[in-house]
Amino acid sequence: MKYYSTNGKAPIADLQKAVVKGLAEDRGLYMPEEIYKLPKAFFGDISGMKFQDIAYNVASNFFGEDVDEDALQDIVYDTLSFDCPVVKVTDNIYALELFHGPTLAFKDVGARFMARLLGYFLRQGGDACGETATNRTVNVLVATSGDTGSAVANGFLGVEGIHVYVLYPKGKVSPIQECQFTTLGKNITAIEVDGVFDDCQALVKSAFMDEELNQHMKLTSANSINVARFLPQAFYYFNAYARMKALGLADNLVMCVPSGNFGNICSALFGHEMGLPIKRFIAANNANDVFYNYLQTGKYEPKASIQTLANAMDVGDPSNFARILNLYSQNGTLTPEATHHRITNLISGATYSDEQIKETMRQCYSETGYVLDPHGACGYRALQEGLKPGEVGVFCETAHPAKFKEKVDDILGIDIEIPARLRAFMEGEKQSVEMTKDFADFKAYLMQQ
Ligand SMILES: *Cc1c(COP(=O)(O)O)cnc(C)c1O
Repeated sequence: MKYYSTNGKAPIADLQKAVVKGLAEDRGLYMPEEIYKLPKAFFGDISGMKFQDIAYNVASNFFGEDVDEDALQDIVYDTLSFDCPVVKVTDNIYALELFHGPTLAFKDVGARFMARLLGYFLRQGGDACGETATNRTVNVLVATSGDTGSAVANGFLGVEGIHVYVLYPKGKVSPIQECQFTTLGKNITAIEVDGVFDDCQALVKSAFMDEELNQHMKLTSANSINVARFLPQAFYYFNAYARMKALGLADNLVMCVPSGNFGNICSALFGHEMGLPIKRFIAANNANDVFYNYLQTGKYEPKASIQTLANAMDVGDPSNFARILNLYSQNGTLTPEATHHRITNLISGATYSDEQIKETMRQCYSETGYVLDPHGACGYRALQEGLKPGEVGVFCETAHPAKFKEKVDDILGIDIEIPARLRAFMEGEKQSVEMTKDFADFKAYLMQQ
């Protein structure tokens, strides 16, 4: 498969290049040249298939031309060592729980898949990145405000030939988040930056642009715009469809995705293009309403993000918006009006304030006993308000509520149990490297590695 850039000014790339580079030379996002439909027979059999086999079929459709069959099967099976069950919440609303992976958030699948795919390319002996660097180890730099760092660090843990540096703002991530990337050791180094998240991101960006550093070591990012991170999330939606079909509830299925950077919902839309029979989609937002406004007006007006209770969705300029536009404009061949029309025919939106999120969490808990996290709460509410007669809705529960224990306990007046996996991280010993926000210091440190 070849990949083109949404900005249309970069050379066509193969999968390996798209994965290693992440972003195209013209700063556009990579798109596969074709999205093949899956055969009718696959959808006929799907409700009897297990998650891993469904996922392998989907993965094969995207990556099968570029990755050896057995290797791809291993990558998929190894990535999906946990389940993503669909759980009934009300008569017509089901939760798709994406939080049973190592760090209890849905980003685990994309991070694990990308780590394994990159490991595969390295083993193939391909010069996976940076043709001139002296050291062959690939170094992944990732800046985090919490959740991404833990998913990437755990996804890449123990993968040979790759070292991960997680940069995070000192004192600004929760203790539960911090322990998920500072206690791992091995090929994961946590760098505690005396600054804010933007300083961490600036250090990473400067590192990618520094020629001397790039001569010294191979650098890459594990950003969520990477095709190997966002596409595997499509597995979730095929699995959800299969489980709902087994219940006889898949005929008028509405899929609702709490969205921030729109990578997760974008993967669902790619699934739809592959033939997945979802009737329509809802993108549920917190108070960051840029996409919601686009749906209403046809105008995309990015703005600064605002802090909310559902902080993993605090995004004011969602990076995958470009992919959605590209998909429905048929790579820019349709007018903006026609594109907007196609998008609003398939996707609707919702936006909720922190007050509404709290109210929804309380109402759902008291009426059904189900504990929503603040992100999932946006999805649940959008279905409650948006489902039409005869429709059944599935929303993604994107993180385990215990990841936000203080908030959830406070809002619901409960003492939610911390899963054993999360407790194990908290008992580990913190190891981190202290760093100023001055690039010269960060560079000097990396030059010694
Ligand atoms: C990242 C994240 C989201 C948003 O996903 P996008 O792919 O960025 O739209 C939602 N909920 C949680 C818990 C997340 O970590």
